[in-house]
Amino acid sequence: MLFDHDIMDPTVAELVERWSSLYKEGRFSALNVREYWRVKVPEIYSPQPNWNCLRITFDEELAQKMLFDPLERFMCGGDPSQVYQMVRQLDTPPSLCGRVFKNGDPTYGCRDCGMDPTCVLCADCFKNSAHSKHRYKISTSSGGGYCDCGDREAWKSDVFCDIHIKGQMAEQSKNPLEMIPPDLIERIHLIFDCILPYAKELLTYEEGFSIPKDLEIREQDREPTNLSSLYDSKDTFVTMLYNDETHTYDQVINTLERAIDCSQKDAVAFATSIDREGRCIVRCSSFQQCSQTKNVMEKQTSRGSGRPLRVQVMPTYVIAHQIFASRLLTWLHNILESAQAFRLIFSEIVNRDGGSIVENIIWTDTKMWKTARVQWHRLFISGMLMDQESKKMFARTFTKNYSRMMKDFILDDHDHAVSVASLGVQLFTMPTIAHMLVAEEDVLARLLNTFLSECDKKLKDNKLALEQRSSNTLSFRRIQYILYDLKYLLGVKPEVWTRELRCGFLHGYNLLLRLLSMMQGMDPMVRQVGTHMEYEPEWESAFNLHIKLAAVIPLVIEWAASDRIVLIKAYRLLMKSLAELCTEDMKRRYVRELLDYSVSCIEYDVSSAPVSIHLPLSRLVAGLTLHLDKYGLNYNSPEFLVKGKPSPEELMEPVLRTQVMIAQVHAGMWRRNGFSLINQIYFYHNVRCRQEMLDRDVMLLQIAATLIDSNEFLVHLLNRFNLISWAQEDYEMQYLRDDVEDGLEGKAHATSATPHRAFRVFKQVHLVLGNSSKLGNDEDNMRQTVVLVEEYLQLVMTIVSERYTPGIGQIGEEERIKKEIIQLLSIEPMPHSVLNKALPEGTNHETGMEKVIDSVADFKKSSGATKGFYELKKSYYSHYNLFFYHYTREEQSKSEVAQRARKKTAGEEECCPPPVPPAFTVPFTMIVNILQCDVFLHILKTVLKRMMDLKSQSVSESQLQKVLHLVGYALHEEERYYHNNDPYFHFTRRAQKISLLGLLEGLVGHPRTTTHKDLLAWTIRKYHSVLSLSASSSKEAQTSEAVMASTSTSVAASASSEKKRRSDIAAQRKARIMMKMASMQQNFIKTNETLFQETSSTEQTNDVVEPTPMDLTEQLPEDMIAIGPRQTLVQPQEVSHTCILCHQEDQVGRGEGSTGRAMVLGALVQRSTVLSRNRSRRLDQPDNHDPLLLPADLYWGAHTSSCGHTMHAHCWQEYFDDVVKKERRKPYRFRQNLSFDIDKSEYLCPLCEALCNTALPLLPSVTTTAVNLRNQDPPSATPTISLTDWIKGLQTILKHKEEEEDTNCVEGTWTPPSLPSVVMDLMSITSPETAEAFTNLFSNLAATTIPAIPSYTMNMMSNFAHAVYVHGLGVHPNLSSRRIPLMVWASAAYTILTLEETQRNANRALLTSLSSRQRDCLSALIRFAAYVPQCVKKKQAIESASVRLLSVILEGGETAPCILEWDSFSALVTLSLSLPSIFPKILGMAVGSMQDLYLLQVCFLAHLVQLLLTYEKQNPVSEMEVEGEEEEGEEAPKDSAEESGAATGDAEWLVSMLDHCRRMASLPPIAVQPQRLLAYIKENCLPFLRCCGLFFHFLTEVPAPEELQSSVFVWESEFYCLLRYLGLSINQLRPTFDDPALLELVSRWCSDSRVRTLVTSAGSESCVNSWTRINQLVSLPHDYSELINTVSQFPCPASSGDDSRTPTMCLVCGKMLCSQSYCCQTEFPEGSRVMVGACTYHAHYCGAGTGIFLRVRECKILLLSGRIKGCFVSPPYLDEYGETDQGLKRGNPLHLDATQYSRLHAMWLSHSIPDIIAHTVESNSGVVPTEWQHL
Ligand SMILES: [Zn+2]
Ligand SMILES: [Zn+2]
Ligand SMILES: [Zn+2]
Ligand SMILES: [Zn+2]
Ligand SMILES: [Zn+2]
Ligand SMILES: [Zn+2]
Ligand SMILES: [Zn+2]
Repeated sequence: MLFDHDIMDPTVAELVERWSSLYKEGRFSALNVREYWRVKVPEIYSPQPNWNCLRITFDEELAQKMLFDPLERFMCGGDPSQVYQMVRQLDTPPSLCGRVFKNGDPTYGCRDCGMDPTCVLCADCFKNSAHSKHRYKISTSSGGGYCDCGDREAWKSDVFCDIHIKGQMAEQSKNPLEMIPPDLIERIHLIFDCILPYAKELLTYEEGFSIPKDLEIREQDREPTNLSSLYDSKDTFVTMLYNDETHTYDQVINTLERAIDCSQKDAVAFATSIDREGRCIVRCSSFQQCSQTKNVMEKQTSRGSGRPLRVQVMPTYVIAHQIFASRLLTWLHNILESAQAFRLIFSEIVNRDGGSIVENIIWTDTKMWKTARVQWHRLFISGMLMDQESKKMFARTFTKNYSRMMKDFILDDHDHAVSVASLGVQLFTMPTIAHMLVAEEDVLARLLNTFLSECDKKLKDNKLALEQRSSNTLSFRRIQYILYDLKYLLGVKPEVWTRELRCGFLHGYNLLLRLLSMMQGMDPMVRQVGTHMEYEPEWESAFNLHIKLAAVIPLVIEWAASDRIVLIKAYRLLMKSLAELCTEDMKRRYVRELLDYSVSCIEYDVSSAPVSIHLPLSRLVAGLTLHLDKYGLNYNSPEFLVKGKPSPEELMEPVLRTQVMIAQVHAGMWRRNGFSLINQIYFYHNVRCRQEMLDRDVMLLQIAATLIDSNEFLVHLLNRFNLISWAQEDYEMQYLRDDVEDGLEGKAHATSATPHRAFRVFKQVHLVLGNSSKLGNDEDNMRQTVVLVEEYLQLVMTIVSERYTPGIGQIGEEERIKKEIIQLLSIEPMPHSVLNKALPEGTNHETGMEKVIDSVADFKKSSGATKGFYELKKSYYSHYNLFFYHYTREEQSKSEVAQRARKKTAGEEECCPPPVPPAFTVPFTMIVNILQCDVFLHILKTVLKRMMDLKSQSVSESQLQKVLHLVGYALHEEERYYHNNDPYFHFTRRAQKISLLGLLEGLVGHPRTTTHKDLLAWTIRKYHSVLSLSASSSKEAQTSEAVMASTSTSVAASASSEKKRRSDIAAQRKARIMMKMASMQQNFIKTNETLFQETSSTEQTNDVVEPTPMDLTEQLPEDMIAIGPRQTLVQPQEVSHTCILCHQEDQVGRGEGSTGRAMVLGALVQRSTVLSRNRSRRLDQPDNHDPLLLPADLYWGAHTSSCGHTMHAHCWQEYFDDVVKKERRKPYRFRQNLSFDIDKSEYLCPLCEALCNTALPLLPSVTTTAVNLRNQDPPSATPTISLTDWIKGLQTILKHKEEEEDTNCVEGTWTPPSLPSVVMDLMSITSPETAEAFTNLFSNLAATTIPAIPSYTMNMMSNFAHAVYVHGLGVHPNLSSRRIPLMVWASAAYTILTLEETQRNANRALLTSLSSRQRDCLSALIRFAAYVPQCVKKKQAIESASVRLLSVILEGGETAPCILEWDSFSALVTLSLSLPSIFPKILGMAVGSMQDLYLLQVCFLAHLVQLLLTYEKQNPVSEMEVEGEEEEGEEAPKDSAEESGAATGDAEWLVSMLDHCRRMASLPPIAVQPQRLLAYIKENCLPFLRCCGLFFHFLTEVPAPEELQSSVFVWESEFYCLLRYLGLSINQLRPTFDDPALLELVSRWCSDSRVRTLVTSAGSESCVNSWTRINQLVSLPHDYSELINTVSQFPCPASSGDDSRTPTMCLVCGKMLCSQSYCCQTEFPEGSRVMVGACTYHAHYCGAGTGIFLRVRECKILLLSGRIKGCFVSPPYLDEYGETDQGLKRGNPLHLDATQYSRLHAMWLSHSIPDIIAHTVESNSGVVPTEWQHL
């Protein structure tokens, strides 16, 4: 809003002048302004024909000058900036924040202080508030809401942040409008009043309608003198395409491509813009052309799918006005935000005439496109919701128009978030406004009437019937947003009730009853007999509706229960509704008899008549009844005398039917009803639904139990379960007799009123079921009865024992939650999130659970990969209730197993007796009478007696267990009554009637009771102790009896426990053995596991390392030397391998090894940038790249890895061909989402499913012959050659090299001279002995006696080498490429460099904790690299490469890279493996000879020179000198005297070398501290030595010194150890490099002119700065909210200024990307017409195809590899319970976990990402595949 107001256009000045004088005369009106706009607006904002519609821009500066300036000047009557400032100063600082959230903005709730979860803060307020130290909750906004900071009704405490508290302190007493000159107010009025109608009229303009007359272009404009250009613009039009939610992006893109003939890229841009803005101009041209475009688009999209795209043709001048209108709204929004005075004026205007302007805009909401709507909504928020009075007025208007608005919303297809209806949450959640609306605007009734009008359309027999896939289901889903609004309105119950409030509430309540009546009994089910259900009936819609209503109903109950008058009226209304529903079938009765009780029962058969799970009306009774007692009311109070009011039996009947149906389902009687039923029952019990289902049902049954006589109640239940006949004494006998009768009669009669007959009807139904075998059928029948009895007992137990509901038991809300937690943790210890999810929503999800959790459970901190979890405290184990009614059957048995196991280990009785329940509240005490009534005792007796009878079939162990529990509850209850001195309840006395104790004791030792013998013993003991309590007179006798009883059982118990102990020991032993075997079997699986955690833990890999030949070190002499003349000789052991495919063992032999079949390892070659020290470089042109040497900055490389599983080459080939064949058979589209990409020859290891793309042949050891030969013939006579002479020899080769004409090769090829010619030449400059020695280097038997390799193996070798070339460079196959062997060597070097770095990263000694997988892979790879010369097609490739490399090192030159540009280790690898074969016709192999030592010396020296030249860069001189002096004292050598002497020598030598190097490179000399230099060199060359160590260790198989495998890593000692192992001089550097020829080399290297440039180009990345740096992933902030705040403003780089929806950070380089969005897709590869997402594209360059990203808003790690593969893994951010929160679903504060992050880092460093992806995809097959390339 800050514009430059100094430059005012003269015409504008004149205009303002004119307006002002009109105003003074009182003649100014909006028409004056509009006339000006009519002319000016089209001039500035009209799109011009044939513009590129994607890049439409206007002259905003001109617009400011010509359109906004006059407006502001006139409004302010002078300089706007002064006026603005004046008005703003009137504002006390705002006490409300009100910042409007954009999509993706972070929002913070406070679980401690928020009134409800919709109360949120913006990031700024949050950071400055006390809540940041509370239990806050972070999430991201979907746009639309605003910050609630400062709203007293949103926060229980800490209402203000530090910013807005200031506004609070300055009391807002004065009305700012009183402080402003009335003249100014009037002007502002005039301008606002002009803008609002203008914007409204234009933004709702639709095609075919005319725009307001006064803005139209008129005929007289045509006059050439007048406004002819304006007139001409009348004939230009645009085609405008609108957004909808029916067409997909791709449909829109396709249509656009054809209709306007644009590129795919442009079409994507259009589609993105349409999605963001809601519409977009796609063409600007003549009317005809625009119409034609429109027709094409409509025609194309109306095919098939129905509704066409919305396209309009509009004149450009209208568009101009629309654009200006939209700009005006933004302008207005900014003004309103700036000062309260403006807001008040605004509010005055829009609320005029009962809010007619607001009303108008609400009505036209759906006529506007997305952004236009959002602009209005924003204006409402900034203009009206910040002020209490304005907000109230707005709320009233909103409510008055609610119905119409919702109806528009249903017909509309845009998201709720961009509908004006979404503002409901802002208004209704404020309690004062909500209560006002209920009382004065009848808001509840308005909402419900709107909802009901939709429901009325869906009635069938007066019941809601929601169909599944019909077109109006969508509208029904949209209408359900009303239920959210209802929930907001009822959020806080009123403290004070007024008459109006009661009326308003009850009016709404009555309508709610209508809705619930429609739902009562909906989706009824009838048991399916005979055949299965043909189709699954719809059930989900009803449950979705239920879930939304279930949030409302408890609030309604809470409101109703807070006022006596309301409660009475509500209860009466409810009774009336029930009476209306009470149908005829409810009234039909028959008499049932049991013992002496005859009961009139409702006639109904659940197994044949319809039953429904939806009974909201009955459940509402339960909810309200609980509150009656508070006001001295009950069900039978005279207040509730209503005609047709249901009797208690009728009241519970529907609920009872549901219970019986579920029991029958458990008994297997509803098997044919399919999944719909199963699902409904599942959700009935599930935590998401049960509060308003199962819980209420149990409550209602408990209420009925207080209203009906206990005996009658039990008979009603028995009858409904169809168990009356079961309860008869002679049931078993009768049953058998019936069988005979049935057999004789052949069929049974159906209709009968006697209970016995009823049972037969039931049986008959089963006969009809089609089970022809009579016997089988009877068994089935009996089994069902057994289960039904169990279910019956369970239900009775639930009714008498479940009391953890406030109002039923004497407990509070906290105890209820406590109970749930205890029961959950009795199943198993659980992490915080799992536990939280298992609790019902509501208060628990805020802090309810945290309030009590610590009192019942201990939190065990997370360790490593396991989450932290809660464990139940010991003292609460006795609270465990096995038959807890919220348990599913699985949970029940799981918890029982867990608890029994726990008791067993603790040496306790193996049973879980019933816990003591809390006491009932007074109204519910009647229920305990069930436990002592006659029918109950009869049932106990029946079960126990039949249990005794071995012939009896109708009992089960589970029945006994439940009966014992019931007895236990009765005993608990008697104890309670005894302590209360209340004689009412006396179970033991009444139980004498059936001599219960005798029955129980009679069962002791009975074979049927073994499972529950401990429970039986417990019950009997309890019985005695209760008896002893009550019988006070004969106390002593009783006690002794009790003691005797208990001792007798305990003796029995101890005898059995001894036996048990012994069998336990045996079992344990067995278990141990089994475990050992299992672990052996799983060893390979474990190896596989380590594949993914390799660098994460040492312990794990330790036990996996298999003994290898190298482990024999212990028995070998200490000084092991790998190369050179003093090489330690070892007889390599041939290891035999088992093929994982055919399980046969074979040896990789040499010579006679031809008998052994060729074997391979599955291997993966991948391009890599992991080690790159310069991320600005990348391998752009792999087709021309020369892989002779790795670059010094390692910006590219090819990594080879293997899972280490061996296969026969034949077996592998067969397997691989099979995989290919299978995949090729699949249609292409199914191949896309596999874990491997067959087009890149990928496959999975058949054993461990590791990702592979080639097979690495296993070859014999290279040193075998060498050892054999040298053992026979000690090397005494062989002449030796000095380093100088050796170099002379090599130089001779170079001198005679010849260039070969080969146009195919960029790098040129060379041919070496023959060996004899070199020797001849050499002889002339040195001695014959030297020449002979030189000859020996190349023709000695050890190196040239190479085993004959079978041709099949040879084939495998060429294949592998070629695969390294293809995958490592990412090029097309070319079997004859000369680069193949070079790639193998480069890859070997790169793989070693990687391994060295991973070891260093884990702070490990060189060989410590290497897994067998790593050893096998490296050993095979290095051997293979040594054998490569054998398998190349043309040996010249090797010779030429060797010559070239020698030339680079010894000669240099302009075409060769300079010393600072090549990696010295890779030079060593390539040279030592190629040099033996340099001469034509000679095939040699590196075996760790003299020559290898010399090569090492040269390459080591090269590395030293590199270090010396870059010393200054890493240790800037100025600092160094200062520090050096300071540290001199500390630097005093602590080593032994001898070593320190050597060290001093080295230090001085290094200083002189440094001087020499710098002089040669023409660099100025620098002063250095010798000891510091030495330390630097030693530390920095260690990685090089370590790589050499690995290379020669695996090449020569000389055992490594113990130290290299020790668990402690001391770098300095490893340095000397490696010097020794590599055959260099011990303890000192200098002697190694004393040779004068070497100094000459140094001079040559350094004098290259490029060296100086590289070293001095300060700060440039072209020269390596650090040789030891281990690449890290980017460092992340500790607090996750920090991260999310920073990305909230991240704009999409492709679309100007728009926020990115999925900001995603590359963890390798830290770049932020706009992922998974059309806007940032790129065509890749270019010209392929394949679009890939920003991440895929970035990964290609940043990570050579592999990527690791953090999706910031969701807190997820994304891994990508090979373009089409990817997966999500858990992020390194954890909450305080050690859990991740992917997708921010829970919103707990998250903090960076260093361990987790370093695990990710290690994974990346070790190149495991492709493998992890393959594994994750493989284990999640079946999950909807993601199109990873679009991310
Ligand atoms: Zn705020
Ligand atoms: Zn604030
Ligand atoms: Zn708080
Ligand atoms: Zn095999
Ligand atoms: Zn494997
Ligand atoms: Zn983007
Ligand atoms: Zn990157």
